[in-house]
Amino acid sequence: YHGTPVTDRVKVFANARAADYAGRLSLLGDLRRAVERNELRLYCQPKVDMRSGKVTGAEALVRWAHPRLGMVLPSHFIQLAEQSGMITHVTNWVLNAAFSQLRAWPVDDTPQTLAINISAYDFRNPTIVRQIDNLLSAWRIDPARVQFELTESALIDDPGATLVALSGLKALGVELLIDDFGTGYSSLSYLQKFPVDGIKIDQSFVMPMLDSPDSAAIVRSTIELGHTLSRHIVAEGVESEALWERLADEGCDVAQGYFIGEPMPIEDFPQWRAGWEARHVPKIH
Ligand code: C2E
Ligand code: MG
Ligand code: MG
Ligand code: MG
Repeated sequence: YHGTPVTDRVKVFANARAADYAGRLSLLGDLRRAVERNELRLYCQPKVDMRSGKVTGAEALVRWAHPRLGMVLPSHFIQLAEQSGMITHVTNWVLNAAFSQLRAWPVDDTPQTLAINISAYDFRNPTIVRQIDNLLSAWRIDPARVQFELTESALIDDPGATLVALSGLKALGVELLIDDFGTGYSSLSYLQKFPVDGIKIDQSFVMPMLDSPDSAAIVRSTIELGHTLSRHIVAEGVESEALWERLADEGCDVAQGYFIGEPMPIEDFPQWRAGWEARHVPKIH
């Protein structure tokens, strides 16, 4: 695939993945070596407070700089990592990379938070909470600056074990968010059962809300319900100023999406943040 643009390579790869089981097996072999060969990369995407316009932090998003396939997105390898058990190594790599960056960010009037995506499979690891506790200490990270984002599938998978793990994480002092809210089953009961601090409304509801009254109603009632239960609300997929304005009117707390900033190498975040605040903070006030 040498010489083709990254996006085309990813498409070629996506087709190959569906068609070719052998390809999957060889990719799995590659994935086993990827961690050792240091081929994973940490990107991040900013989160902005809708009232002040200030950057509150970012979400860590992993990529795989594959030597032949180019930059591979997580939708093409996280599932494979989960099914093969490699996710433990991926998560461990992401935690270390994320904490080392967070450690290096300047602490000022708005100490930045960093959100990390945790897979359902990570909760099958009985030592996950202790591992995270140890890493927080080793990197000397204030747990209040760390968030974990869990999809609803992580919550359904083994609710008993997950509840124990989530309570353990809460006791460390980190924040927990439900990711892709609304796409799983019986979302509402999770809000009551699990000690979560916030809800990320899935982009599939946010993106069409200007044209679809149904999507708009779902977004509005999720914001209302979340606030009634004292949870903060993050909207994903904020791609335009019009969407930003509509969500701000609806009382959404935090926004994330291409309108604000696309995922970037995490080393670039402090500089991006300085640029955003210089451009936007006075205007949004
Ligand atoms: P997610 O946590 O829901 O992350 C949001 C995804 O939406 C990201 O895709 C992001 O790049 C994309 N996105 C953000 N804003 C916009 C927008 O305005 N428009 C559109 N169309 N898309 C937007 P990405 O980076 O490809 O990640 C996909 C998923 O992979 C993530 O969904 C998350 O579930 C998973 N993932 C990413 N990093 C990790 C990781 O380190 N560990 C685990 N277990 N999963 C991860
Ligand atoms: Mg997420
Ligand atoms: Mg999400
Ligand atoms: Mg999503």
